[in-house]
Formats: sequence, C-alpha cells, structure tokens
Amino acid sequence: MAEVLVLVELDPAGGGARKTTLEALTAARALGEPSAVVVGAPGSAASAKDALAEYGAATVYVAESPEIDDYLVAPKAEVLAQLVGEKSPAAVVIPSSPEGKEIAARVAVRTNSGFLTDVTEIAADGTATQVAFAGQVIVHSKVTTGTPIYTVRGNSVTPEPAPAAAAEEQVQVSLSDAAKAARVVDRVVEQKSNRPELTEASIVVSGGRGVASAENFTIIEDLADSLGAAVGASRAAVDSGFYPHSFQVGQTGKTVSPQLYVAVGISGAIQHRAGMQTSKTIVAINKDPEAPIFELADFGVVGDLFQVAPQATELIKARK
Ligand SMILES: Cc1cc2nc3c(=O)[nH]c(=O)nc-3n(C[C@H](O)[C@H](O)[C@H](O)COP(=O)(O)OP(=O)(O)OC[C@H]3O[C@@H](n4cnc5c(N)ncnc54)[C@H](O)[C@@H]3O)c2cc1C
Repeated sequence: MAEVLVLVELDPAGGGARKTTLEALTAARALGEPSAVVVGAPGSAASAKDALAEYGAATVYVAESPEIDDYLVAPKAEVLAQLVGEKSPAAVVIPSSPEGKEIAARVAVRTNSGFLTDVTEIAADGTATQVAFAGQVIVHSKVTTGTPIYTVRGNSVTPEPAPAAAAEEQVQVSLSDAAKAARVVDRVVEQKSNRPELTEASIVVSGGRGVASAENFTIIEDLADSLGAAVGASRAAVDSGFYPHSFQVGQTGKTVSPQLYVAVGISGAIQHRAGMQTSKTIVAINKDPEAPIFELADFGVVGDLFQVAPQATELIKARK
C-alpha cells in the first residue's frame, strides 16, 4: 500500500499528539498507509506514540534533537522534505494550523510539489475539497506536480481509530545553517482557563454584540460552564472589547465545528457563519425573529438573552 507521510502536531504542554494530528491521520488513510513523522525534542515521540498507533500510523519516523525547539518551523520543513526525497510517499498530510501551513509551503518549494491548504476532505483519487468565499463555494482540486501536499482544516474530519503497529524508525537530524536562521529566544506560557480549547471543543457557546458589555460576558461563560463548553465571540463583540480576539469565531477568527454551537446575541453575518456553519447542531438565542442566524439554526429561542441564557444555565445545572 502507498505510504502517506503525516506530520505530527504536538501539544506544547507535553500532552502528546494533538487532535488535529488524529484528524490528519484519518484523512490520510483515504490515500494509503499513514506514517507519522515526529519532529521535536527528545521524548516527543514517546508522548505521542499510543495515539499514533491507535489512529493508524504503521510507521513512526522519529526525528528528535534537543536543537529542534530552538528554531522556528524551518527544521521541521527540512526533515519532512528530506523524508519525501528518501521515501517517495504518495502524499504528505499536515494539520492546517498556521505552523502547519508554513511547513507545507516550505516542503512544497523544497520538493517542487503542489500543495492544497485547508482541505476538508481528501478522496481516494487525491481530489481535495476546500471551502472558499466564507463557505459559499465548494472547490475540488488535485495536485498535478510532484508529491501532493495537503493541510487538513481542523474539525473537518472526525478522528477514527484504526489500530496499527507504529513501528519506530529513527531519522538522523542534521540541521543546515539555513534552518537555523531564526532562533527562538524566549517562550511565554499563555494563561489558560479550565475550559476546553475553542477549536477542539465539542460544545461552544458564543456571545455577540447583543451581550452589550465585557462584564455581561459572564452570562456566556456561565452558560458555557454549565455545558462544559468553550467560549467564543463574534467579531463585533471582540472589536467592542467584550472578549479577547483569540476567541473570535469566523472568517477572520477561529473555525469551529462542534457537536453543539450556541449563538447568543449574534445576528449570523456571513463572515461569522464561515467559522461555525459546519457545527452539527446550532442553537440561537436572539431577540430579533428576523435575524439571519435563525436561517441556519436547528433550534432557536426568540427572546432577550439576559433572561433566556441565565434561565437555560439554571435548568442545565438542575439536571446534573
Ligand atoms: C472582512 C470581514 C471579516 C469579518 N470576519 C468576521 C469574523 O471572523 N467573525 C465575525 O463574527 N464577524 C466577522 N466580520 C463581521 C461581520 O460582518 C459582522 O459585523 C459581525 O459578525 C456581527 O457580529 P454580531 O452578530 O455580534 O453583531 P450584530 O450584527 O450587531 O448582531 C447583534 C445581534 O444581537 C441581537 N441582540 C441584541 N440585543 C439582544 C438581547 N438583549 N437579547 C437577544 N439578542 C439580542 C440583535 O438582534 C442582533 O441580531 C467580518 C467582516 C468583514 C468585512
């Protein structure tokens, strides 16, 4: 069976392979047998190995060096391009994070290959599906040059277990001077809440301009906490200073695709929909019955969010 290289995205907090990696492994299986590529500090592969085996990695290429984390993306691109040269894989699949997309572009240049970003599906014949123009257009594309390189958009593929051997193969790492051009001089650990990560959460509760102030966002947080959900925000809420930009959902924010998305005081502009319209079930709370979000919602409550959301929170808590 054809070999497909899958670059492993590691949890920076040491939690092993991120969910995006499991999605990439699942997508890669349409094209052949996935081989995971771990590029990181010593011990990285050990932290990820169980998940890689569970989600279908026949081989795990281990490229570990204390130096790798000292530099930005260039070492990862260099190792991956080297493996493409040595193994002649049928394709390369990478999670579609900002880092993943930069690595994909660098590997494409180094290997003279075509690449497709933010794909939501890969077919057995290599045809990739992409969503364009804020979700209004579906594009089907195929790479015609070199080794096809894909980056898989987060939450577009459901990770499916397919146990495999995950046989380790060591890869020699010798970084070129070019790969060492930009050095990391400091790392600051972002303060995080106990809520799930927005892009990986199975439930997201988002607030919009209707929430009216930063203080009122506790209403959104309380509803989210009652459901074990992540908190999101519309751009209008972010631009108004109600919530930090890192929580923005939409075309110029994060893309989420949870099992349940609750939009509170959000009108449902096309740019917001672009980041959440693939959610499995959408619930909207809005006082305007004509709000466009109701066209998309599976369930809607026409009402004042300051009454509806706290009541919902209390009822959900009472059920536990
Ligand atoms: C290039 C570009 C990129 C963009 N990217 C994004 C993006 O990534 N994400 C994004 O979200 N937007 C984005 N936007 C902005 C987008 O066009 C909208 O302006 C924005 O989504 C509106 O946010 P909103 O729904 O919170 O606010 P509004 O459109 O003002 O809607 C507020 C809603 O709250 C309701 N409401 C008010 N008070 C209450 C109450 N008490 N109870 C219940 N309901 C109430 C109102 O009926 C209304 O429907 C982008 C725009 C552009 C041009």
